[in-house]
Amino acid sequence: MRFFILMCAIWFVPDCHAQQIALTFDDAPMPGTSVMTGEERTKRIISALKESNVPDALFFVTAQYLSDTSAKRLTQYADAGFHLANHSFSHTSANKISAEGFLSDARKAHSMIKLFSNQVNYFRFPYLHHGDSKTKRKVILDGLDELGYRVGYVTVDNFDWYVNSLYVTAMGDGKKLNIENLKRLYVDVLWACIQFYDAVAVKALGKSPKHVLLLHENDLAALFLPDLIAKIRQEGWQIISPLEAYNEPLLSQYGREFDFNKQGRVAAIAYMKGVPEELLRHPSENTEYLDRLLKEYAVIQ
Ligand SMILES: [Zn+2]
Repeated sequence: MRFFILMCAIWFVPDCHAQQIALTFDDAPMPGTSVMTGEERTKRIISALKESNVPDALFFVTAQYLSDTSAKRLTQYADAGFHLANHSFSHTSANKISAEGFLSDARKAHSMIKLFSNQVNYFRFPYLHHGDSKTKRKVILDGLDELGYRVGYVTVDNFDWYVNSLYVTAMGDGKKLNIENLKRLYVDVLWACIQFYDAVAVKALGKSPKHVLLLHENDLAALFLPDLIAKIRQEGWQIISPLEAYNEPLLSQYGREFDFNKQGRVAAIAYMKGVPEELLRHPSENTEYLDRLLKEYAVIQ
């Protein structure tokens, strides 16, 4: 056994490393729902991350959600040692407004978020839309450069936001839910997306990169984060800090000329290398698929 470990260390260092992934949460501080207040949600997410010894997490702030009350939640994340970044002020798609309009929205968010401690200059595009033409994408990326920002890309896209909306609506309608089954669905879908985008990455890059998982600061994250983290680790993966993940040379060696951004950077690179678009999206990134899954998992009693 010892010999095996030694050989592994000498000969197969890259393959012996655990696959790695960082956790990021968009749309913080998302308003409360009929199920959970924003304060309660933040408390649960912080304790889940702390109790699971997650080294760091990055919260992408949608600045229009900031008020005196909700700002306290961001302070709590920062005080717990986690980091805050920019997800725009108004959450408008870069495909729907002018480059200058988009940049002034990003600057407005920056002026608000920079007042918090543990703020870092990473920008996550709402809907992962970088702009609907090459020229526009370039103007926007140049503008973000000038502001001293790097792109807060994701490598694992998914529809956690839709599963959350199904949950919140069903609860609001007074439906009786089987929370264990919902938890299984949430963890299974996210794990399937992680495996899917890792396989795309290995094919496109030759090895598994440091991944960035897209999550949202929503009720399901607050409820099921400990189980998701446990699943990722049970499968032999390591959870790393987002700032470490963003220093992944496999993903940063490419220029900024991506024509396909919607499913994240791994998909963008695979597309650039000739993989067709239809192979770069997991089947669960589809609302009808998830509606069916909700029935298959017997979530609503
Ligand atoms: Zn968002």
